Amino acid sequence: MLMRYCCLILITVAAVLAGAQAPYTPPAYLQVLAGKAPLRMLVASRQTMLAWKGEAAVTVVNGLDNKVALAMKAGETLGIARGADGVTSLRKDGANLCAAPKIVRLESKGAIKLWTPTPDVWAVYPAPVLITTLPDGTFSAAAELPLEEYLRDVLPAEVLPSFHPQMMRAQAIVARTYALCKLGRHADEGADVCADVHCQAYGPASRRSKSTEEAVTVTKGLILLHRNKLAEPYYSSCCGGITDDAGYVWGPEYARPYLEGVLDSARNKNPDDVSIAELLGMKDGYCKASSSYRWERRYTAAEVNTLVAKNLPIVTGDPQVKMTVVSDIRVEERTPRGRVSTLRVEGGGASILVFGDQARWLFGSGVPGGDGLWSALFDITITRDAAGKAASYLIRGGGRGHGIGLCQWGAEGRARAGQTFRQILHAYYPGTRLSDEKP
Ligand SMILES: [Zn+2]
Ligand SMILES: [Zn+2]
Repeated sequence: MLMRYCCLILITVAAVLAGAQAPYTPPAYLQVLAGKAPLRMLVASRQTMLAWKGEAAVTVVNGLDNKVALAMKAGETLGIARGADGVTSLRKDGANLCAAPKIVRLESKGAIKLWTPTPDVWAVYPAPVLITTLPDGTFSAAAELPLEEYLRDVLPAEVLPSFHPQMMRAQAIVARTYALCKLGRHADEGADVCADVHCQAYGPASRRSKSTEEAVTVTKGLILLHRNKLAEPYYSSCCGGITDDAGYVWGPEYARPYLEGVLDSARNKNPDDVSIAELLGMKDGYCKASSSYRWERRYTAAEVNTLVAKNLPIVTGDPQVKMTVVSDIRVEERTPRGRVSTLRVEGGGASILVFGDQARWLFGSGVPGGDGLWSALFDITITRDAAGKAASYLIRGGGRGHGIGLCQWGAEGRARAGQTFRQILHAYYPGTRLSDEKP
């Protein structure tokens, strides 16, 4: 009896310890690649409550001990929330049913419909779905799915239906390898990757087409390797004619031999020897079919003054920085592939440096995205009045996105020019090999 009692205490202590740890340790990538372990895709993040129902019957399982907590009929709704007393409960029609396990696994033969309060929507995911109570009392949900199933709904979100089959195959291999590189990226929420552009866009299933399905099937299990390790295949929409060096754009910790930047054109020229004027004048980039291959922005001096006054404190991270009248903006330094890495902004006797992609956000809302410049591959021309004061600014640029690794529109251009998915991948990630190619 005493023995059994001691065991109970030990088990309780073990459970408490397990609860105190990070909720999730990701599996080894080879396990996921072989389909022996699922990928956990975050579908709801840090919600105050969640609700769900199944298209078929749902079994609610305690994810820590795999014991069945509840059985639900098809269409029946259940929720999870934390009460004012701090106790997390499973709820039906707003009333508490029982205390909720720390990790809840929803198992079913059909799909699970999951409701989140923010945004207030129901969305459908394949079962099983895991719900994790986080240390701050909020809830995250992750769909568990085989890697190849996940890719069926990632690929259509990353390509256009009109894209060439060889481009889609290259993209499928990149998406597969990228997901494996990012296993456990959302471990603090009990998941591997999210379903958004932060990791990779996903779904809806209605976007699947014959060609996206074929691209995933034909490349099944194929990944990109560098010296027998997973390559990190970053990619972006359109490079504007030249991809860049990850070490220069994001910092030395991202430097990889296969992410040093290549000329995205058939011309046989060393990318080190191409000036920014030559680049922006280059009309034959493989990504030239993209509507963002070349772009222009025009600003009056007053518009630039307003943008700088508002955004300079944000992009420099220094709230004390004040500049209301700009006298000059010039590119101080570029990456070896031509992207702006340092911008100098002058006015009112001050001279301020803006680094990396912050130069893009300076012309938007100060933070990534929004109305910022589409890429850091740009040049600035200032027109001055008779007194030498800046009157207007013309920014000419190329491409959209960070420009590291595969260029999606360039991959499409290469495929149309007759390149295979293997040639496309070797072009953007020089020195890598596919997992079925000899080292
Ligand atoms: Zn993510
Ligand atoms: Zn390109």
